[in-house]
Amino acid sequence: MGEFDLISRYFHRPAQRSPLGVGDDCALLAPAAGHHLAVSSDMLVEGRHFLSTVAPERLGHKALAVNLSDLAACGAKPLAFTLALSLPAADEAWLAGFARGMWALADAHGCELVGGDTTNGPLNICITVFGEVPAGQALLRSGARPGDDLWVSGTLGDARLALEAFRGTLQLPAQAFAAARLRMETPTPRVPLGQALRGCATSAIDISDGLLGDLGHVLAASGVGATIDTARTLPLLAAGTGVCDDAWALTCVLAGGDDYELAFTAPPALRPEVEAAGRASGTAVTRIGRIEAEPGLRLLGANGAPLAQRFAGFDHFG
Ligand code: ADP
Ligand code: MG
Repeated sequence: MGEFDLISRYFHRPAQRSPLGVGDDCALLAPAAGHHLAVSSDMLVEGRHFLSTVAPERLGHKALAVNLSDLAACGAKPLAFTLALSLPAADEAWLAGFARGMWALADAHGCELVGGDTTNGPLNICITVFGEVPAGQALLRSGARPGDDLWVSGTLGDARLALEAFRGTLQLPAQAFAAARLRMETPTPRVPLGQALRGCATSAIDISDGLLGDLGHVLAASGVGATIDTARTLPLLAAGTGVCDDAWALTCVLAGGDDYELAFTAPPALRPEVEAAGRASGTAVTRIGRIEAEPGLRLLGANGAPLAQRFAGFDHFG
């Protein structure tokens, strides 16, 4: 199977929403009038972002999910994406599985594949997504203000829990491992929540490198600090805190990575609106702390006293 057979068999569908899709030198997109185009790229490298044990179908899902998560964090509506693939071989079983996972998530979000690049080499997947957001309404990292509540969506830490089980650092019961592994391999991008938070959240970010590290970007961009009540974050581990000791559970929740939940801020007066956005999008939202004028990030333990435990952030070159 040659490059162009491969593309036409697995990655070419007629464009439905875009003026021009796969097949020419460029695709053409048509964001609605009065909207900005939101653009983001994420690359997945074997051994770095995923384990070779992952099923191709889950990998196809995840490659698109991590990109849609960036659109969610901006409050943008997905339009289209491109797929740049480096493949060690034209393995048809692998391609069919990968494409199935990718198309299922793409269709669920009405996001169409409009182009890409295909080459032979080490397994590497780079997707670029394009979304639209009404001009001036994108959720940014820079909008958090002292007094705002700090919120997170969904559950946190289960992907890290699965990773530590793979590494052999933690032993998990089989059922807890399967559930945590599903969270690691098939994250849910919070696209409906992101759009529902427009006009309500003052800032947002998606959590890819761990809550503390990613929140740090919001604090820096907004010129503020924050306090997190860790007693409110500990229960966010979906596997339950019974599967490991509390220190590990906190590490997974606060500094886990690969969560693809949203961390966002909103004024306390808008708590009913935030909760309504959560309900409307079918996404749990939890208030975990507050934004303060004093720079830095402070963690409170169960008794309300400063937490002694320290956490390392994730940095590819750190
Ligand atoms: P070019 O030489 O102009 O870069 P290519 O010959 O690489 O174009 O690709 C031919 C067409 O197939 C282009 O429209 C390109 O966007 C598309 N394409 C290539 N790889 C993929 C892929 N993995 N998924 C979707 N479309 C792809
Ligand atoms: Mg090319």
